[in-house]
Amino acid sequence: MKTRFWNSLLVIAALGCAYTHAQQPAPNGADVHRLAAQRAAGLEYPGLLDRLCVVPPNKENSPPPPPPSATPRPVPDRSSWYAPPFKVFDNLYWVGTKIHSSWALKTSDGIILIDTLYNYASEPEIVDGLTKLGLDPATVKFVIVSHGHGDHDESANLMQQRFHAHIIMGAPDWDAIEKGRPMPGGTPKRDMVATDGEKLTLGDTTVTIVLTPGHTLGTLSLLFQVKDQEKPLNVVYSGGTAFNNQFDAERFQMYITSQRKLARLAADSGATVLLSNHSEFDDAYTKARLLASRGPGEPNPFEVGQQSVARYFTTTDECAQAALLEYK
Ligand SMILES: [Zn+2]
Repeated sequence: MKTRFWNSLLVIAALGCAYTHAQQPAPNGADVHRLAAQRAAGLEYPGLLDRLCVVPPNKENSPPPPPPSATPRPVPDRSSWYAPPFKVFDNLYWVGTKIHSSWALKTSDGIILIDTLYNYASEPEIVDGLTKLGLDPATVKFVIVSHGHGDHDESANLMQQRFHAHIIMGAPDWDAIEKGRPMPGGTPKRDMVATDGEKLTLGDTTVTIVLTPGHTLGTLSLLFQVKDQEKPLNVVYSGGTAFNNQFDAERFQMYITSQRKLARLAADSGATVLLSNHSEFDDAYTKARLLASRGPGEPNPFEVGQQSVARYFTTTDECAQAALLEYK
């Protein structure tokens, strides 16, 4: 991971040199977009830039997935992924692994769980994590699954079966998991299908669901409010950040359209907090740990400000435009 990061910096530096050095040929269109992404990402979003602009999946480094195997995927060593749970805001809790995030939004009438984790992490991180934080997993009323990939949906069945939580997904991703192989931990039964602009209200809290197809066809993103030491803050939650491995112009264009739509809604709502479901994109694991040593009057590291939120979306947009030029 470290090597990848330093490689990213080298490539970014090379891009900068190519742009500024008068003797070098003028950058091509894709390079211009990557430079714009680099400027937007700054030092705040290196993981985002790395994944989307420096080493994005492409036809060369992403061979087609191997055929389905009867052998279950081995569970990685716990020390490589386990992270303790953290309270992040007055009403938002992080119950993720070092890599993937699951969020518990506490309302006056129960919990809305945003994304789940691989099945192996469901008990130690979500069930035990909520309990350690003084929250009852049986009070989870809704689970919003941003998209139907194993790192975000494999604990959904447990939440549906054991705690009778409603599962919300986009229609294409319900279709995909129903047609796919049986999921580790079980495949949840089709429940609630998200619609664009839908407002999910539980107790005193409302979450607005935004359809943002691109990473998958049914990817969901969210807008909601949290409180930080009683101060209300608006959050934009990006449910699918990486490109899909389908290398066609239509799919990249779909991704760009969704990113612009979400960026506009985030700006309109005054979002100053950007959350995602991978720590490589929003540094959730690191920021959550930083909170433990937050002193009186110090800012919450998750409150990055409206300009930073906008720069996140400029990064995804510009990297996708570079990819569109190169892969179509
Ligand atoms: Zn995914």
